[in-house]
Amino acid sequence: MTVTALGLPMPRAAVPGGMPSEGPLLDTHGRAATDLRVSLTDRCNLRCTYCMPAEGLNWLPGEDLLSTAELTRLLEIAITRLGITNVRFTGGEPLLSKHLEDVIAAAAALTPRPEIALTTNGVSLARRAKRLKDAGLNRVNVSLDTVDPNRFAHITRRDRLSDVLDGLAAAAEVGLTPVKVNAVLDAATGLDDAVELLRFCLGHDYQLRIIEQMPLDADQHWRREETLSAEQILAALRRHFDLQPDSAPRGSAPAQLWRVDGGPATVGVIASVSEAFCAACDRTRLTADGQVRSCLFSADETDLRMLLRSGADDDAIEAAWRGAMWAKPAGHGINDPDFIQPARPMSAIGG
Ligand code: SAM
Ligand code: SF4
Repeated sequence: MTVTALGLPMPRAAVPGGMPSEGPLLDTHGRAATDLRVSLTDRCNLRCTYCMPAEGLNWLPGEDLLSTAELTRLLEIAITRLGITNVRFTGGEPLLSKHLEDVIAAAAALTPRPEIALTTNGVSLARRAKRLKDAGLNRVNVSLDTVDPNRFAHITRRDRLSDVLDGLAAAAEVGLTPVKVNAVLDAATGLDDAVELLRFCLGHDYQLRIIEQMPLDADQHWRREETLSAEQILAALRRHFDLQPDSAPRGSAPAQLWRVDGGPATVGVIASVSEAFCAACDRTRLTADGQVRSCLFSADETDLRMLLRSGADDDAIEAAWRGAMWAKPAGHGINDPDFIQPARPMSAIGG
């Protein structure tokens, strides 16, 4: 990818003419958003150190959250008018949302039927995996940063590793496959954790994705020099495994895939900070309180909840969503000297 001296992706040529009122959900840099991330709640039953403080956050008031009917209407606009083909439910912890199965079923009933995925910490996945599958969920990403019980309790501030492992097994059992494991590594123990996690995932046929830590923690404690880079992670894995670049085209996928010990198993490393992939970004985001964000790092939000509750028609909501995405910045700017961390933390945006 071509990047500027500041590490931002080089903007592609601006789309000629004004903002289109139909067709793909475009921005001025020529990217089309086809992947919608929907946050269902900002609450969580874990307290991962890189995400939330021990005492939690000031949760969004219940009346601010989109109802099932409101969210269903936005999903229909996204899929039937804006060209969204993939929907991922996230949070906070999406399994804390009681209407998860209902909104999955609503999304699955739309034409064209989107691919539906879930990002979860897995704590309460075991008892819901079958219901989620029956509602129309296609697959899951389960976040797991270590398979060591003490380190898990240290990182998440909760002693729930065995529940997460049960959740992973249940997901595989009911066919929410391929089961992916997302890991954000601890600066002190993460390189050892990565090696053990990869052994664990190879043994269970889960696909490991390791993500560089980003400046999206609620405490705003992120310091680049205190995080592990993709390069460090790969070097640590190479001491134990043979890694060769996977030949499959990467497209807009954020993970660079490596074939492990000759394959077919792969491990993905997502270098969100050290090698931004913003130029290929195909995402649009909807927060649990109905705000569209064009990027995790957006300074701006577009209030669709207000439009929904003031009686706006589908044309007006579509136009507002298109306008939000049209203004999508070229890149996240983490590597700019004047980078400012967004006010909303990852858990309230939807990771
Ligand atoms: N609670 C669910 C979970 O943990 O999977 C869904 C929400 S969580 C915010 C989504 C993903 O964001 C998780 O994989 C988590 O590890 C990741 N995440 C959280 N804070 C992060 C940060 N500061 N940098 C990079 N990834 C982060
Ligand atoms: Fe909760 Fe997910 Fe944040 Fe961990 S990363 S505190 S599980 S929202």
